[in-house]
Amino acid sequence: MKDTYDFLIVGQGIAGTVLSYTLLRKGKSVLVISSPHHSAATRVAAGLFNPVTGKQLKKTWLAQELFPFLHRFYPEMEKTLGIRFFYPTVIYRPYRSVQEQNDWMARSSELKEWLRTDTDDAHYRRFTPAPYGGLETLHAGYIDTNLLLDRYAAYLHQRKALREEVFDYDRVEILPDKKGVRYGAYRARYLIFCEGAHGRFNPFFKDLPFNCVKGEILDIELPEALPFIVNQGVSVIPFRGEARAKVAATYQWKPLDEVPTQQARQELIEKTRDLLSIPFQVKGQKAGIRPATRPRRPFVGLHPQYPALGIFNGMGSKGISLTPFFAQQFYEYIENRKPLHEEVDIAKYFKKQ
Ligand SMILES: Cc1cc2nc3c(=O)[nH]c(=O)nc-3n(C[C@H](O)[C@H](O)[C@H](O)COP(=O)(O)OP(=O)(O)OC[C@H]3O[C@@H](n4cnc5c(N)ncnc54)[C@H](O)[C@@H]3O)c2cc1C
Repeated sequence: MKDTYDFLIVGQGIAGTVLSYTLLRKGKSVLVISSPHHSAATRVAAGLFNPVTGKQLKKTWLAQELFPFLHRFYPEMEKTLGIRFFYPTVIYRPYRSVQEQNDWMARSSELKEWLRTDTDDAHYRRFTPAPYGGLETLHAGYIDTNLLLDRYAAYLHQRKALREEVFDYDRVEILPDKKGVRYGAYRARYLIFCEGAHGRFNPFFKDLPFNCVKGEILDIELPEALPFIVNQGVSVIPFRGEARAKVAATYQWKPLDEVPTQQARQELIEKTRDLLSIPFQVKGQKAGIRPATRPRRPFVGLHPQYPALGIFNGMGSKGISLTPFFAQQFYEYIENRKPLHEEVDIAKYFKKQ
């Protein structure tokens, strides 16, 4: 292992994975420090990417930029790692009523790049009751997050670019004259924190307005593989063409812990019963904490007082869609001084002080 790097990255959830990969592809030297004893929301997540969300069918913020980018990024990463973890899959959304059918049909022309209303409902009705028909969301899908994190960890290990240990903030030493940072035996130009919800305890970025949210998810077994994602209130997401799926997710602000609850299990089971016309059996349940933020935008940037320190966090419930595009932006910002999107740039939080 070397002792001098361009970047030290703390955390190997989806944020640290995508950012460190982006930097390595740009020829930068990187050491990732990530703790196997800290939880990672990415390991709980359903891995969904969906450009049109919510009851009101809203186009995701920056969908035009994020989705074409991620559809190039993940397949390229699959080639490098020699695995399949990226599953572009249509999302079927049954209408709840004739009223909703009319409303959404009317709205779908604004979103025609993302939605299809001339669906073959008979195909979907084998799996989900859809008395009023439904629509399809395009450019959507899911990734197998655990496979990605495991294989990427192995990729980093091969390059001696991963240390599995708890990061100790007290050992950070900022070097004078913008010469970077020292951490124990290591020296780097930049130290970037990607700690997910644990980031709310980071002493260097403690004033950023995190608003973390607990979420729970079920693993279910089905009689056969589900060939699409189905969404209405919750999402049932197929898994690698196998006769199993994930049901995501609940939202809970208190208590902010990672303990699965009977209440969430019941809520998810009831919603799944409404959504599937085939039987299912619950095989597992997990809880995690989303690194959400009050402004509902990621936190990206360098610390105004200590510019050797940076943050790439606050991905909320959309880490899969947000990280590829913003990792590229962060790289361009650091290396080529191109401005960050103003809504993610952390500079504004420090100006207010
Ligand atoms: C139930 C549920 C379902 C979800 N479903 C989806 C979904 O379908 N699609 C989607 O896009 N998003 C989903 N999300 C949100 C998604 O999980 C997050 O957006 C994303 O995982 C955040 O990634 P991250 O890398 O920032 O954080 P994390 O995945 O939490 O990773 C943080 C990493 O930092 C490490 N770390 C932290 N502190 C330290 C330390 N001091 N020392 C060393 N290492 C440290 C941890 O070990 C961990 O590896 C879901 C979340 C939940 C809870």
